[in-house]
Amino acid sequence: MSQATVTEASIPQERLVVTEIPGPRSRELHARRQAVVPPGVHSVLPVYIERAHDSVLVDVDGNRIIDVCGGIGVTTIGHTDDAVVEAAREQLGRVTHTLFTMTPYEPYVRVAEFLAQHVPGSTPESPYKTLLMNSGAEAVENGVKIARKHTGRPGVAVLEHAYHGRTMLTSSMNFKGAPYAQGYGPRAGDIYKAPNSYPLHDGLTGPEAAARTIKYLEKVAGAEDLACLVVEPIQGEGGFIVPADGYLPALAEWCRANGIVFIADEVQAGMARTGTVFSIEQFGVEPDIVLSAKGIAGGLPLAGITGRAEIMDKSQPGGLGGTFGGNPVSCAAAVAVFEQIEQQGLLTEAKRIEATFGSALRRLAEKHESIAEVRGKGAMLAIEFVKPGTLEPDTELVTHVIDFAAQRGVLLLSSGVYNQAIRFLPSLKMTDALIEDVVSVLDEALSARA
Ligand SMILES: *Cc1c(COP(=O)(O)O)cnc(C)c1O
Repeated sequence: MSQATVTEASIPQERLVVTEIPGPRSRELHARRQAVVPPGVHSVLPVYIERAHDSVLVDVDGNRIIDVCGGIGVTTIGHTDDAVVEAAREQLGRVTHTLFTMTPYEPYVRVAEFLAQHVPGSTPESPYKTLLMNSGAEAVENGVKIARKHTGRPGVAVLEHAYHGRTMLTSSMNFKGAPYAQGYGPRAGDIYKAPNSYPLHDGLTGPEAAARTIKYLEKVAGAEDLACLVVEPIQGEGGFIVPADGYLPALAEWCRANGIVFIADEVQAGMARTGTVFSIEQFGVEPDIVLSAKGIAGGLPLAGITGRAEIMDKSQPGGLGGTFGGNPVSCAAAVAVFEQIEQQGLLTEAKRIEATFGSALRRLAEKHESIAEVRGKGAMLAIEFVKPGTLEPDTELVTHVIDFAAQRGVLLLSSGVYNQAIRFLPSLKMTDALIEDVVSVLDEALSARA
């Protein structure tokens, strides 16, 4: 078998619409799928993808779609990055699986070393330690397990508008019960959902919002019953909500004073997405535990739970792990992702995207009254839609814009508890030309509606 070459993999970074979307072959596949796949596994856009490179998806009908979602923040380095594909292919032929908890291998250790170098708070003298699993939800589950073991306490504090996954525990931690937990009860106990910081809606400063969060948790949970506080430094599914300045440091301070493990869920915001390896660096907080997944291995399943040694070391041998956790191929891909972030200057690229995409979106907001706010950091940006003159969510407008864009070959995704926002998670290599094209489609969509 010959290996696919770089040229075979590359796809013109331009939008091309040759059929209606979804096209006939996608519709055919969708009918087959509906017969054998339950509707609970919903697809936002039932367009079947055959190939992808960097920022462009090619569907089975030959349409080239600009991907502004990256599989929800997974292909941060771009689809089928040459170095990542090569590293995974090489590892696949060398050893695909042994089970790290049976007979270990080096790539796992290298990923742990990279994370120890990059997680804020970790130092060469006392590096943070890492457990590898397969998914973001598993990272959250294990973060909670480890925090409970360390503290001997049961309580888990989370924030309103949070999203942490779809397993039994994490679906109970999400702010939205519908659709994630609806009908799957009983939900897990000892979870406390405290008010967050949402500057557009609460108008509070960071310290004010933190005081509100802390007061709630002290009253409802009691600090001495809390094992951990799990926060997304920038809330993902919640609508890319950036907390007010000083909010996260005040929460971290309170956690430290009360022996509560501060867990940063960086599953969506981490891995260079916001212009630093972890987004929490930009808020000046050193978490006790950092969770990574999504973008860590360029599309292969992998998740990391990285924490202070004294916390991580509390678990007894055999208490942590799983058959596929830290799979060698995923680890090899993750090592390549870490190397490429550096070699391709992707942190700088995230800043470029913040500048070009961010300013184009702000121009759009000046023109269209329905955009209440442009927010986010790096290549994690969102616009929130409201009924003009109010702060009421305009969900229908969000749906209209997403449908309009899909018809024209631009893949967008909503976000927010009320689907009030459109979020942008481009590859860090998305060109300025593609960004301009995406924004012109947004403009057309909004003008068509006005
Ligand atoms: C996606 C996500 C998760 C869950 O990750 P899965 O890999 O889907 O299990 C957890 N936390 C955050 C912040 C996420 O965005």
